[in-house]
This record gives sequence, C-alpha cells and structure tokens, in this order.
Amino acid sequence: MADLPFPFLREHVPLAPLTTWRIGGPARYLAEPPAEKMPDLLAWARSAGLPVWILGRGSNVLIDDKGLSGLVILTRNIWQEIRHEGDFLVAGAGVSLPRLCKAAAAEGYSGFEFFIGIPGTVGGAVFMNAGFGPGDPRDTRAVLEDVGLVRRDGEVTRVPAADLRMDYRHSVLQDAGNALGDAVVTDARFRLEHPGDAAAIRDETRKHLADRKRKQPLTRPTAGSVFRASDGVPAAVHIDRAGLKGYRVGDACVSPKHANWIENLGHATAADVRALIDHVRTTVQKVFGVTLEPEVRELGGGG
Ligand SMILES: Cc1cc2nc3c(=O)[nH]c(=O)nc-3n(C[C@H](O)[C@H](O)[C@H](O)COP(=O)(O)OP(=O)(O)OC[C@H]3O[C@@H](n4cnc5c(N)ncnc54)[C@H](O)[C@@H]3O)c2cc1C
Repeated sequence: MADLPFPFLREHVPLAPLTTWRIGGPARYLAEPPAEKMPDLLAWARSAGLPVWILGRGSNVLIDDKGLSGLVILTRNIWQEIRHEGDFLVAGAGVSLPRLCKAAAAEGYSGFEFFIGIPGTVGGAVFMNAGFGPGDPRDTRAVLEDVGLVRRDGEVTRVPAADLRMDYRHSVLQDAGNALGDAVVTDARFRLEHPGDAAAIRDETRKHLADRKRKQPLTRPTAGSVFRASDGVPAAVHIDRAGLKGYRVGDACVSPKHANWIENLGHATAADVRALIDHVRTTVQKVFGVTLEPEVRELGGGG
C-alpha cells in the first residue's frame, strides 16, 4: 500500500456504521483533518482527481451501496470546540446538535431547545438549515450569526448568515454553480439573545424529546424525514392518505409510525431505499398530483 500524504487520512473505510440509516459502501479515502489543513487536503484531492464529500453524523444522507470512490471528510470526531464569546456561542462544525443545545442552556440561554432531538452536527445543520417544519421559525437560521467556511478552491472565509440565503431545509451551500456551493463549514457563531430560566429550558427540551418519542420511530435506523413538505403540507399527510404506511421494498419500509420516515428493517440497501422513494413519489403523484422532493441527500451513485 502506497504511503498516504496525510497522517489523518485512511483508506477503504466502511461508511454504513457512520450513518443513522446504517446503509452504504466504503469510502476510498476518509480524512479527519484539523481545520487548518483543509486547503492542503482539498488541493491534494484536486490534484488526484478525487471527488470530495463531507459527512457529519450521517443523519440526512443516503450513501450508495458501491460506496464513495473519492475523499470523504468526516467531521463528527473533529472540530469539537464550543466557546462563549460575548453575545455569541461559537461551535466547531463537528459539534453535535444536542451538545450545542445543552451548552446554550448551561450558559443560561434559550432558543436552542429545538436542536435537542436532531441527531446531526452543526455543519450539517447549517447546510440543511435544520429545524422544525416549513413556516415554523425554529430553525438554524434563527440563531445563526455567521460561519467559517473553506471553499472548494481552498479559500478560507467568514460569511454572514444572510449570505447563506437559508430557507426551509435549504442553504446556498447546496447550490452547485454558486461560489459558496459545496463549501465546507468549519465553525458557526450563534447569537445568545434570550436569557432563559434553567428549569424552563429543561422542561422545553424534555417536551421536545417526549413529542418525538410519541410520533417518530426512534428505535429503528432511519434518516428522519425523507421528503420535504410541499406547499406547506407535510409529505407524511400525502403518503399516509395514499395508504403507503408499512409498504416495503426489500428491508426498506415506510414507517408504520410516521409515513415520511423510511425504516431499515435490518439489511436494507441504498437500492431498496431508492426504489421505495421512487414508489412513494410515483404513487403520491398519481393519487394527488403532488410531486414530492426528497429532503435526504444522496451521496454517490450519481447523486
Ligand atoms: C431521528 C432523526 C430525527 C431528525 N429530525 C430532524 C428535524 O427535526 N429537523 C431537521 O431539519 N432534520 C432532522 N433530521 C435530519 C438531520 O439530522 C439533519 O438534517 C442534520 O442537520 C444533518 O446533520 P448531519 O451532521 O448528520 O449531516 P449529514 O447527514 O452527515 O450530511 C447532510 C448534508 O450536509 C452536508 N454537510 C455535513 N456537514 C457539513 C459541513 N461541515 N460543511 C458542509 N456541508 C456539510 C453533507 O455533505 C450532506 O450533504 C433528523 C434525522 C434523524 C435520523
């Protein structure tokens, strides 16, 4: 095996255990770099002709069964710092959202409670504008001040949240062709605006967790909501009314508990999930004339 150019680089790393769906083949290369090495790492990937993917906690991705034949930058174990700076909380992109929520509460601030049950990272939350449903003000944009980014050309920059044009499950980071498209988030600065009573914050987070337990299949491998809401109507409403709860392809199953979630019953493949997604989309289109757009991000397999 040839020597690898960086000490933080590994080869042929299984990715399924690094996703909440437990699906997907291996990464050709996987890196867990210090933030300051990102420009060098991206330059190496460019010179080697390797496509690059970023993976946080893998809670919103469908990774192809063949894996990713390029470089995966994994953030869940790196970029972990959280610090209180004046009116802000600064968090590394690899910080988990429940940890961010607890850190804000420990500093005596509310406004972060909605993060408690979202099993992603700060970077993934910025990329997706993670939060509650369309029209609900509780999302990442509501508390975000600015972010540290490394663009794919290696330029390190700091960008105000307004420039990310965040909207329901969208940020400009998702837009190919934009100068910030596919930029890597290395840290984020959040506003501490609402001093909160510790007991009230605790009650609020407990309530969020209890709501989720009641409505969501949290004991199964899933990736949360599979489809975006369309015209403000939750996708689950259409999927449920189309009678698709419990519908299966292989080991991928429309959750009997929440119609917009797909459970991995044990050995589901990305091909199973893709076929199930296609079936759901076609059926909902046929029955209601509504086109469902996936919220989960496909990595590899042309996606
Ligand atoms: C049980 C469960 C509940 C969920 N509930 C919610 C919910 O209430 N609201 C909600 O919005 N989502 C929810 N999700 C989905 C998911 O947790 C969020 O989208 C989360 O923000 C994804 O973060 P992640 O770190 O897991 O990202 P990943 O799944 O690893 O990646 C998602 C996308 O973000 C990109 N990305 C990740 N990190 C970075 C980075 N540092 N820089 C640039 N791009 C990056 C990836 O390349 C990928 O395209 C849920 C998922 C599960 C499994």
